[in-house]
This record gives sequence, C-alpha cells and structure tokens, in this order.
Amino acid sequence: MVPELGTAKELLARLVAFDTTSHKTNIPIIEYIESYLRGHGVVSVRVPTPDGQKASLFATIGPADVGGIALSGHTDVVPVTSQAWDTDPFTLVERDGKLYGRGACDMKGFLACVLALVPAFKARKLKVPIHIAFSYDEEVGCTGVRPMIAELGKTLPLPRYVLVGEPTSMTVVDSHKGPMRWSVEVTGKAAHSSMPHLGVNAITYAGRLLGELARMEEDLKTLPPNPRFDPPYTSLQVTEIEGGTASNIVPVPCWFGWEIRRLPGFDATALDQRLRTFAAEKCLPEMQRLAPETGIKIEIGNEVPAFEADARSGLVPLALKLAGQNDTFAVCYATEASLFQVGGAPSVVIGPGNIAQAHTPNEYLAVAELEKCLAFLGRVADWAET
Ligand SMILES: [Zn+2]
Repeated sequence: MVPELGTAKELLARLVAFDTTSHKTNIPIIEYIESYLRGHGVVSVRVPTPDGQKASLFATIGPADVGGIALSGHTDVVPVTSQAWDTDPFTLVERDGKLYGRGACDMKGFLACVLALVPAFKARKLKVPIHIAFSYDEEVGCTGVRPMIAELGKTLPLPRYVLVGEPTSMTVVDSHKGPMRWSVEVTGKAAHSSMPHLGVNAITYAGRLLGELARMEEDLKTLPPNPRFDPPYTSLQVTEIEGGTASNIVPVPCWFGWEIRRLPGFDATALDQRLRTFAAEKCLPEMQRLAPETGIKIEIGNEVPAFEADARSGLVPLALKLAGQNDTFAVCYATEASLFQVGGAPSVVIGPGNIAQAHTPNEYLAVAELEKCLAFLGRVADWAET
C-alpha cells in the first residue's frame, strides 16, 4: 500500500465537503488548500477574479528558477441538481473499494493525491520544481485557468511541463477534441395564433436552421476520419432550445445553442459561415418581407482549442515512462491541457478515475486509482530529484 493513501482519502473527504459547484464561490476550498500548504511550509499565490469570489492557486516546491513540472487540476464540480444520489454528494463515502462523492473522480481525487504528496515533495532534494496549479470554472468552459496561464512566465514561473490530472484511468492522453459553441436567437413577430399569416413564427425559422445544422452534421461525418477518436469525426449537435410564449401566440422568441467538438486541426470558419449564409439567404428575406424588425442573431460563445501534445517537448515519452505505459490515447472531452500548451507549457492529461463516472449521480473514484496516482506522483518526484 502507498504510504500516503490514508492522507489522500482524508484530504479527498475534506475537498468533497466543499460545495464547489461552478456557479458558487471556491474561496473556502482555496483557503483550506492555502492553509494546508502553509502548514507544510509551501507559499501559494492566488490569481483571483476581479470580484474576489473565485481564485486559482499556484505554488512551487523546489527551486523556482528552472522550469519543472506543474500538476494541474480544477477545484470546481458540476451541479448535483436533478441527479438522484444514494448518498449525500458532499460527504465522501467509502464502499467496496470505491469513494463516492461529487468531484471524487472529476477531479478532487487528483487534487487530494497532489496535496497528500506535498510533505514527500518537500522532503526531496528537487533539482527542478514541482508546481501546483489549481483552477476554477473548468466545468463551464475552462474559463478560470486562463488568467493564471496568462501570468505564466510573468508573475508566475513558466513550467517546462504540465500534467493535467483529469480522469484518464491513469493512462496518458496526448490529444483531445476542442469544443466550440454558438448561440442563435431568432426574433419573429407576434400575432394571434388564429392569424399566423400576420406574424413571423420564430420557431418555424429556428426549425429551418436546425435542419441546416443536421445536414452540416451529416457532412462532417463524410470527412476523412481520425480513428483515434470515438466518434472519429468532428461532431455537431444542438444542445439547448427555448421558444414561444403561449399556445395561442405566434412565437416571437426562439433561442437555441449548438456545439461542435473539433478534431485537432479542424477549422470551423466554413461551418460558421455556412449557417450565417443559410440564415441570410433562406430565412431572413422571407421573415423581413413581412416584418423588418424580425431577425436572426448568431453568436460564437465559449471555445476551448483542440489538443495535440507537442511532439518535440519530450513530455509524452516521459509521462509514458512514469506511468509505466506504452500507448497514448485520444479523448473527446476537453481539458485545460490545450490552453496550457497554447500558453507555452507543453502538456499531457493523466489522472485517476474513469471519465464514465464523472458528472454522474453516485460519482465515484476507485481506491485503486487513488493508489496508482499516488505512486505515479511519487515517480514524478523521483524524476524531479534526478
Ligand atoms: Zn474535470
């Protein structure tokens, strides 16, 4: 058994007990981690939001004047709203080798492992530093890590490498898709629903746009596939929709959201243009002939770049060696790895837990995964020492 296992479980219980659902403040958990680090003689730096309601935390153990390796994770979790849990999601429960709790898998388990090893990191004679980089608002589009990344190489040291501890079952993930989201607002003209010819039905026109998106989705499936991903193409889907006011009114508002999950190297410009052209040519002229005040507003929302590990950096072979693995994997979910890499710090994703358990009711992390992660981080320390 890894000596830090008990500590990691205790820390995980403490971390899970903070309700850090993305829309809430994460300051209490940051204060807890700060004081834990301080207790072990580690100084940490906050990168707060302008309103001070949230913060990332960055700390360095070992020499600060060389690159080193950063252990990166997010403190926020997805909501438990309308999920049927068998236990209190914010109380860690161990049963049959599994640790149940919101965020146990995604990704407070990794944070707990990192923190559990802090005393061991401190005790080593590190030649290169081990950095801790904990963010917020990862679950709402990887937005919280961005201000921290902007400080790397400026007020914070730029790590040579970053390990992003998202759940990969401790395999090395060197590639992921990049989500990009749009919001579409169709504005029609109201009329009594018995006189539809006097109004402009926003839902009808939204439906036409949805039809075009469905055709775009089919076209994406015909592009050359990348068999490393499942599905092997850039996926497209409508994720949200709202519309209408009452059953007897020609609907004025209709709003929907859609997203793509881009393969590395995919350029979304043509897709974006295709929907705009369709709206301009196949919807708007008809709508505005009857009511010039009607319209369609298409806006690009959140996006996270797709990720492909930097082959020249040497991090992939290092991570494989430390993980005792031979193969790398590609995943379809996004992580902060691509943002770190764009920010100048080559990254890979490797962390405890199976992504299938993330975001679900009765989310859990297998104790065995926690042990594997602790052992892996021990080998990271070996590497940093030599
Ligand atoms: Zn996550």
